[in-house]
Amino acid sequence: MSHPFDYSGKVVLVTGSSRGIGAGMVEAFARAGGRCVVNYVADDAGRNKTDAERVAAGMKDAIVIECDVANDASVAAMMRQIGEKLGGLDILVNNAGILRDRTIKKMTPDDWEAVLKVNLTGPFNCIRHATATTPLLREGGRIVNISSLSAYAGMFGQANYAAAKAGLVALTKVSARELAKQKITVNAIAPGVIETEIIASVPQEQKKKYLEQIPLGRFGQVDDVVNAALFLCSPLASYITGQVIHVNGGMLMP
Ligand code: NAP
Repeated sequence: MSHPFDYSGKVVLVTGSSRGIGAGMVEAFARAGGRCVVNYVADDAGRNKTDAERVAAGMKDAIVIECDVANDASVAAMMRQIGEKLGGLDILVNNAGILRDRTIKKMTPDDWEAVLKVNLTGPFNCIRHATATTPLLREGGRIVNISSLSAYAGMFGQANYAAAKAGLVALTKVSARELAKQKITVNAIAPGVIETEIIASVPQEQKKKYLEQIPLGRFGQVDDVVNAALFLCSPLASYITGQVIHVNGGMLMP
């Protein structure tokens, strides 16, 4: 019997995979034999492209695609490219995400909109275009949405982010029902505090407070999230759909 985490022959798209959890995720799928798509969003300095190309350079046969997941036409073009170059898709990980933390009093409509667009509309765009009339995502495929502990805990200053990530849990459940006929499973992972750039901006004092609330006594590592995704996308998880795996060291037990 082949190893359950053998992804040879599988086409894998991880959105926002130029750094952080997404980069760790796409690298793990590539090490396990997957044919991977590294996705980044363009920035003026070109840093994201460089990062994405560096991630892809360490893999066999990876392709790099620029796409802003918040932009419907951009997602349509990415899915078209995947179809043309790789012939289909087996695994979609909706990982791209941004933060714009502020209390509601100070949050601008733009802060609200930007976070909702990337963190919730982004996954919707990707799921929609991957499963459209001539579906790119093959029968038996897997979708993993990266939500957050914030969706459950309602973290201070994260009205936009928590609402988007809670919406993503609901989107996970609806997609799980709608795609079950094609034997596509859809699950979410809700990470707690994971050591990546996204939390580098959190003040030291706040990080100390978080640590005191984590029974396992450490922040999460990228691999803690990656391992949950490898499981959810494997044959071992073929009867699991519409669920959320909480990867948070026990910080919250919803
Ligand atoms: P990160 O280091 O900031 O990485 C975020 C990734 O998303 C980057 O690759 C970024 O691409 C990409 N991205 C941002 N906007 C995008 C867009 N419009 N289109 C395509 N890609 C876009 O963050 P991370 O910590 O790895 O977080 C990854 C996911 O886990 C996010 O959804 C986040 O909300 C979630 N999460 C993280 C934690 C944590 O503690 N780290 C906890 C809970 C949930 P560029 O590099 O090209 O900008």
